[in-house]
Amino acid sequence: MTVAAEFAHTVREIYDDLVTAVKGMMVTTRYLFHPNEIVTVQYGRKQYPGEPRHELDIPPTYRGELFNDVERCVVCELCAKACPTQCISMEFETGADKTRILHNFHIDMTICLFCGLCTEACPDKTKNEEGEKCLVMTNRYDFSTARKSEIGFHFVAGEKKLKAWREASRKRAEEKAAAKKAAAEAKKAAAARAAAEKKSDAGAKTTKPMTKGSESAPSKEGLS
Ligand code: SF4
Ligand code: SF4
Repeated sequence: MTVAAEFAHTVREIYDDLVTAVKGMMVTTRYLFHPNEIVTVQYGRKQYPGEPRHELDIPPTYRGELFNDVERCVVCELCAKACPTQCISMEFETGADKTRILHNFHIDMTICLFCGLCTEACPDKTKNEEGEKCLVMTNRYDFSTARKSEIGFHFVAGEKKLKAWREASRKRAEEKAAAKKAAAEAKKAAAARAAAEKKSDAGAKTTKPMTKGSESAPSKEGLS
């Protein structure tokens, strides 16, 4: 390359760099005076002015932090058994109607694989009107915190909640017992009715019916 060609190449590079710098400064200046056009999100800050975190446009199938609606949870432990990393744990007691009453339910998201196997295992009977099971993966992706113990889902039933659940269990047990008793009595009454009908049918069959001829016509013995 000749000296003249080298000089021309250098000038060309300087020109390109200047154009790039001016373009960059124009973009920066535009966003400086129009903050609502900001497209870069600083981690841990709001995406746009006035828009809170966790409300980004996330696909519905996104596997984020787990959540359990404990009011619908039947405490079957299927989720804990399905979890490959044992990050789900719970404690419970058995109520008067033999259903389980939840004391606490924990999901340690620090060892969660976000595989969703626990939500698959959760039974269909826990579904709400929208067809959502009690254990779901939310679209919450950012749960950074200074304390490890705060990461994950943690439910601990207070005394008030336990009392209400025990009372509901006792009522269900009473209703079940009353329904069972009523069904047994109804069955007994039906059996007694059937026996009475059978007896009356048998009585009707043993009585010989009288014919018209046997009442008026004299016998051959009487005529001779
Ligand atoms: S998503 Fe997977 S790893 Fe996480 S709690 Fe559920 S089963 Fe366990
Ligand atoms: S599988 Fe569902 S219903 Fe069963 S204990 Fe887990 S969250 Fe509760």
